[in-house]
Amino acid sequence: MKTVLHTDWTVKDICEGFVYNELEGKGLFGMNGKLTIQPEYQRNYIYADGKKDVAVIDSVLKGYPIGLIYFVKTESGQYEVLDGQQRITSLGRFVTSRFAIKQDGMEQYFRGIAQDKQEKILNTPLLIYVCEGTESEIKEWFKTINIAGIPLNHQEILNAIYSGPFVTAAKEVFSNSQNANINKWSSYIAGAVNRQDYLQCALNWVSKGKIEDYMSQHRHDTDINELKVYFNSVIDWVDGLFADTYSEMKNIEWGRLYESYHKQPYNTKEISKKVAELYADECVRNKKGIFEYVLGACKDSKLLEIRVFEDRDKKVVYARQTKEAQEKGISNCPLCALGHDNNKKRIWQLKEMDADHVTAWSKGGATDISNCQMLCQTHNRAKGNK
Ligand SMILES: [Zn+2]
Repeated sequence: MKTVLHTDWTVKDICEGFVYNELEGKGLFGMNGKLTIQPEYQRNYIYADGKKDVAVIDSVLKGYPIGLIYFVKTESGQYEVLDGQQRITSLGRFVTSRFAIKQDGMEQYFRGIAQDKQEKILNTPLLIYVCEGTESEIKEWFKTINIAGIPLNHQEILNAIYSGPFVTAAKEVFSNSQNANINKWSSYIAGAVNRQDYLQCALNWVSKGKIEDYMSQHRHDTDINELKVYFNSVIDWVDGLFADTYSEMKNIEWGRLYESYHKQPYNTKEISKKVAELYADECVRNKKGIFEYVLGACKDSKLLEIRVFEDRDKKVVYARQTKEAQEKGISNCPLCALGHDNNKKRIWQLKEMDADHVTAWSKGGATDISNCQMLCQTHNRAKGNK
């Protein structure tokens, strides 16, 4: 691979003939059409937040470096931005007066700032590496370069590595903030559309966690039907099951739960009621576990991380039980005391015993001292497994 460092290309050169797509939020072309700012493997423009874009301009005005920029020179002699799209788009949007910066306490667009400042920006040279090489060389390298500003996340890197018709089509659906379904999806998926979190989720579900394999296999596909159909099946399944939405629903592996439970029939009214009850139960420490617990017929209470007894309560109960047992000459484990073996009269130490809910939590027993008994570890385990 060949790389050449250019130090004499200025903001003016790069932003000459800047074309920006307002609808899609993309910087498209610069250098009078010779530079493609957002090739298909690039992520969406995420600097337009009035902070990061302004910071780029402030840095230039103060003479601070804005970091290395990488272009790829294609066989046809065009340039494509490999890294630096966010910074170039910020510069291009500013010099075409699409956003303002604060100058002397006032909001100012490029056309309104003093001419010497305009010139300072336009004449600022950028540090640009131009690389020429095979597609695989460039992509391998893209995977390893360290990016100034916001690093590419894992999915953005995969989009670059497996760029092609499949990624392009998938991004149109799952990375597109204009998609009217995003609002519904956002009840069940965390993260940001433009950082590829929805795409990552959709790929994760359809591939059962093997995103890279899936992207590699489907790289040259021109349709994304399987991805779309599977994703919609999962979403529709969840959406149809639970009447209410809870914030914890965003962080649940719905794809895995769909695989395990979607063939089972549920009474949606009942499970929604059960979910609401568990949400109101202060003994349930892991709210996230409620959905899987309910789907699994309320059997695996480990998912809920039920509140356990406090040490000071255990000590109080231990002391009371032990005193009573010693007076009667029986074991301080009430279950041992009922037995017929050597442990019938055994006084266990505190560390040999565990706290147990007299009435199980699942049958409405509270986690407070009135519902606490100490059992020897063997009996506690045996009871816990029932
Ligand atoms: Zn016992």
